[in-house]
Amino acid sequence: MPWVRESDCTGCELCIKACPVEGAITMRNGKAYIDNNLCTRCGKCFEACPKNAIRPNSENPLLKGRGVGRGMGRGIGRGTGRGQGRGRGRGRGF
Ligand code: SF4
Ligand code: SF4
Repeated sequence: MPWVRESDCTGCELCIKACPVEGAITMRNGKAYIDNNLCTRCGKCFEACPKNAIRPNSENPLLKGRGVGRGMGRGIGRGTGRGQGRGRGRGRGF
């Protein structure tokens, strides 16, 4: 599932034109917003964006803690670093 890195989005709407799903991408406050309930993950918006503002969910900071980094800190006091990085890559939409 893609998300838009708003700091990179210029609001050019090229992703909206490229998206085959009506309403999957809308403009919110001048930035593209992807409705993950409608998005089919076809990847067309990734290719269309000249700013590379559309990113896979594995890079979504809002989803950190859900998947990436899960299990961190497990085993504290029973050997340093045990369990670190477990679950990395889980939750990737693309
Ligand atoms: S991945 Fe495809 S369906 Fe989803 S927002 Fe991008 S262009 Fe639209
Ligand atoms: S194509 Fe990229 S820069 Fe243009 S509106 Fe979409 S996400 Fe923003």
